[in-house]
Amino acid sequence: MRARIASEGAISVADYMAAANAYYYATRDPLGAAGDFVTAPEISQMFGELVGAALADAWVRAGSPDDACYAELGPGRGTLAADALRVMRRAGFAGEVHLVETSPALRTAQAARLPDGIFHDRIEDIPARPLLLVANEFFDALPIEQWVGNEQRRVTHDGASFALTLAGPIRETSPARAAAASALADHLARHGGAALIVDYGYARGESGDTLQAVRGHEFANPFDQPGEGDLSAHVDFAALVEAASACIVSRVVSQGNWLESLGIGPRASALAARNPDQTAAIAAARRRLCDEAEMGQLFKVIALRHPDWPPVAGLES
Ligand code: SAH
Repeated sequence: MRARIASEGAISVADYMAAANAYYYATRDPLGAAGDFVTAPEISQMFGELVGAALADAWVRAGSPDDACYAELGPGRGTLAADALRVMRRAGFAGEVHLVETSPALRTAQAARLPDGIFHDRIEDIPARPLLLVANEFFDALPIEQWVGNEQRRVTHDGASFALTLAGPIRETSPARAAAASALADHLARHGGAALIVDYGYARGESGDTLQAVRGHEFANPFDQPGEGDLSAHVDFAALVEAASACIVSRVVSQGNWLESLGIGPRASALAARNPDQTAAIAAARRRLCDEAEMGQLFKVIALRHPDWPPVAGLES
């Protein structure tokens, strides 16, 4: 990037974020205690199980179509898919598994958990079939642009370090996220199915600089050692909803309220009854996923669906 900036001049924040994250994800498994950050499916199996239950429920109420596929955007270690599919298979779902993942390192991890998974580089490459899709912490990793008024912020290098141009009140946009949400909505509108998007961000109208780097479970400077930390930014759910207008989009619900309404309480009790020595850990995982001071309020959930498919549980009623 330093060479590129020297020859082309300052690059957009989106180009910087895309290049840094492409290198970052291609060269490691960033998840878990030994990595840089922990996601909901890595905290507890209850997260993937409830996602699977919601998708299985939509599939059964849609008439259990044989040609429907499980699909996931940015499946990480494959933990969410494994937990969700265990529940979905028990409900009779026997469909294919399609994984949109660009990182060779994470494809290897996913293939170990999901031997039947079929990989794709882009949403547009998923076959023309009804989908039961989930994307957890996928959109936050896609590049954002930053603006001060109508001027785009750029990334320069002064010989010693990367730095941003322009100061002032920041507004963020993300053509990459809008393109992904719109490709997903087009697929659902044409071929049927339902999708869950779970991510951290805001329901509407917030602004400011939300670009962040996380490394070794701590916040880091996003312009220090690009490609060695995870770059992400808060997801503007109103922008996703707008980009997904080709299909029906639910309201935006907080992760905590959604998981509680789907029955994480009874699920935690059932798990604890069978694993009494894990009772405290299961209760702690539920609090981490659902409490407002933890992930419960910051993380949000929306569903997209074909008009002939039923609403996804907990999001439209
Ligand atoms: N969903 C997982 C992992 C979240 S990390 C979990 O919840 O644990 C982000 C994931 O998105 C990683 O798998 C990363 O490799 C993938 N990813 C990031 N940018 C991508 C892109 N442009 N195309 C496809 N996958 C991408």
